[in-house]
Amino acid sequence: MSFTYSFYGELLSALLKTHQPVTFPNLKGHDRPVFVLRHDIDYGLEFLGEMPEIEAELGIVATYFIQVGSLFYNPFAVDQLRALERLKTLGHRFGLHSDSPDRTDADDLNRFIEWEKSVLSKTGVPIEAVSFHQPPAIVMDNEIKIKDINT
Ligand SMILES: [Zn+2]
Repeated sequence: MSFTYSFYGELLSALLKTHQPVTFPNLKGHDRPVFVLRHDIDYGLEFLGEMPEIEAELGIVATYFIQVGSLFYNPFAVDQLRALERLKTLGHRFGLHSDSPDRTDADDLNRFIEWEKSVLSKTGVPIEAVSFHQPPAIVMDNEIKIKDINT
């Protein structure tokens, strides 16, 4: 089965029949099943196609997790900034997609994440959550607590 935008819309529509869409800051306190729609951007925002519009038309606010130090895209490049603006206009939200696999110290990792969030916020979008591209072992082993970590 190959991916189609039509099927993506059908999938989300089916999910909306039983679950309420929420964003990361609003995960708790619901009396019916909820879901969070998130996208980790590993290769650039130019590959989103029609997904952001389909989500917005269905009333779903998705969270797009952006990397600061990607080998494949620069969030400050003009095309990426335009894409971020497009997502913002559609009402979507943003998070940091941190790539920090070699960090072994919790304080060092927390400082690095705060720095990445600070840099990413310079694109003009508010950063309200964090996910990991390649989680460090201290994260996988649940040895640390990091603010705004949702994934
Ligand atoms: Zn990733």
